[in-house]
Formats: sequence, structure tokens, C-alpha cells
Amino acid sequence: MNTKIWLSSPHMGTNEFKNVNEAFDTNWIAPLGPHVDGFERDLAEFLGEGVHVAALSSGTAALHLALIMLGVQAGDEVICQSMTFSASANPIAYQGATPVFVDSEALTWNMSPELLETAIEDRISKGKMPKAIIVVHLYGMPAEMDRIMAIADRFAIPVVEDAAEALGSTYKGRKLGTFGAMSILSFNGNKIITTSGGGALVSNNEAYIKQARFLATQARDAAPHYQHSHIGYNYRMSNICAAIGRGQMDVLSDRVQQRRANYTFYREELATIPAIQFAEEPNEDFYSNRWLSTVLVDNTQGVSREDIRLALERENIETRPLWKPMHLQPVFADSPYYGDGTSERLFDKGLCLPSGSNMSDEERERVLQAIKDCFAR
Ligand SMILES: *Cc1c(COP(=O)(O)O)cnc(C)c1O
Repeated sequence: MNTKIWLSSPHMGTNEFKNVNEAFDTNWIAPLGPHVDGFERDLAEFLGEGVHVAALSSGTAALHLALIMLGVQAGDEVICQSMTFSASANPIAYQGATPVFVDSEALTWNMSPELLETAIEDRISKGKMPKAIIVVHLYGMPAEMDRIMAIADRFAIPVVEDAAEALGSTYKGRKLGTFGAMSILSFNGNKIITTSGGGALVSNNEAYIKQARFLATQARDAAPHYQHSHIGYNYRMSNICAAIGRGQMDVLSDRVQQRRANYTFYREELATIPAIQFAEEPNEDFYSNRWLSTVLVDNTQGVSREDIRLALERENIETRPLWKPMHLQPVFADSPYYGDGTSERLFDKGLCLPSGSNMSDEERERVLQAIKDCFAR
């Protein structure tokens, strides 16, 4: 059997292990420590725009804290991109609030500005002012941030940017994760850089970041004994994970280049197959980290997305359909949805190809050949 080719696997650089050893040598084995502070500084420096960062146990935890700090409570409504991973929407439910799902546009596969506007106006007409808007940069592709921010500002609704898949991407030269009132990052094992598991909350409002650190460490008031006036969480990142994260920050730019090279390889080598389409950057304002290389398969030529996925699975190559939209998920069946079918069409035709920054040339060739074979039959 051929060795397995993964969709997106961890890719360590040279300093991660050294940093972890240093944490052991100094016995900083705790959900705080010098690497946590250092990782937060590294991220803030990388993102620019004067942002502050709180390193947390996951991207989901970061999103949960963001909603708490925006005052999202039981009975509230929060607008969320429908086409995304469930972690974008679950924290809305943690707060007892209702997600209102908005469809994607074909241009970026992210939240449609037109449908966002429709959704806000309709919710307001029903007497419900949305408490927040969660916009996602799928697979690293920037959403249309100018248009989305303008709509959000007009209605004075705060935007939470889910940049879990988009560290290293930019919109108009500005890093994703710096546009929202708050933004979240993820360092889960399959993301562009990883701490094995982890996340971060980002904001240029330092008060949010200080409050996030407070809430993430069980909301302990300043007192010699354990004193609490708020419900707290255990959401802080460990110093060991942050040690890995600091090493990963040293290689982040390389990882973006390697992922973008995967995309260019697939696009150029598959150009001869008209049934396979790619999601291009709409213009030079959009710069994607190409976390995952994705394709749309036009099955009118006799080969479907599932044909390709199953053929590659037989070759021990992992691929995956695009995110199944949240408005199609049984768990969110009762939530309001504003859409025109775009995300359903994308889900139907879309496939994520192996995209690890550690893929060898031989592995990419194997993927290419397996796809070409589907069309040769
Ligand atoms: C990975 C991911 C998250 C969640 O991050 P975790 O660190 O796994 O909790 C949230 N949103 C999107 C779009 C993601 O891809």
C-alpha cells in the first residue's frame, strides 16, 4: 500500500523542540509562563495594526469569550456565516443565543454582503437587533471586508472575525484577524501553524484582551484568597503549547509560501481538465494563505466530486468535501437562514485536496496522477 497522504498535517520547524525543552528545564509547565507572553507578543507583532493578543486553549474558546464580552445572552441573535466549521456557530449556542445563518457569495465563498444586509434588515423588522456578526475567511480566502465592515458599521453591530483558517492572509495589504472588534485564530493540529491545540483572541481594544485573560483563568478577583464575582473559564494556553507556537511563528511565512505553491501546482497542472475549477483571488486586494487548496468539480462531464474523493481514498490519499453549511446541519435545523443556494452548490461540487506544507513533490505528483486517472477512464 502507498503511504498515506494527509489533507493537512502538522509541520514542525527547528525551534519548537528547543523551546519545549527550555520550558521543561525551567519547570514552566502551566497554563501561563514566559512562552505564553512571548507567543502573544510574536502574534501581535506579526499581525500589526497595534493589536493585542490573548493566547487561549482553542479557537472555539476565543470565540466563546468574544461573544461573552459582547454581551451575547440567552434569547439574543448572532449572525454567522453558514458555510463554515461548526466551531464558528457552537459558541452562539453555548450562550443560549440563536444563530442566524447567512449564505456565501460565489466570489470569495464567504459571507455575501448583500445577504448580510437583507438578514440584518429582516431581523430588525422582526424586532431583533443582531448582537454580533461572525464572518469567516474560509480556507484562507479573505471575505469582502470593506463591504461587510461598512454594513456592520451602518447598523452599529460588532464584527467578530473568524480567522482560524486565515493566519498570514491579507486584505488590501492588512492582515486578516485585525479587522473585527475582536478576531479569533486557531492553532489546532491541521491549521497552517499548530501548537497541537490552541487558539487566540485578537483585538486593538486592549480592555477586551485583558478581560479575556481574566475570564480565561477562572475570573479570579484580586485577593489573597479565591474570590469570584464573575463566572470564569479554564481557557488559557499552556506554556508548553506556546513554546511550540513560538517555534511555528519562526516558520509561518515559509508555511504560507509552501501552501500557496501547492495551490499553484494544482491549478497549473489541472488546467487541462475543464471540469475542475479553482477559486481564484478576485483581484490584488485579496491574498490567501491557501490553507487548503480547493476545487469545484463540474459533474456534467461524467466525473463527480465523490468519484474523485473515493478514487483518491483507494490510493490512500485523504481529501474532504467542503464544509457542509450550518443551515443544513440537523443540530441547527431551527435557526433562521438567509440564502440563495450558493453554499449548497459549493458543498455539492467542492473538494479539499491534500495541502500540507510538508508535502513532497512525489506526493503532489501522486495526487495529480490520481485525479487525472479519474478523467482518463
Ligand atoms: C478550526 C476552526 C475553528 C476552531 O478552532 P479550534 O482551535 O479547533 O477550536 C473555528 N472556526 C473555523 C473556521 C475553523 O476552521
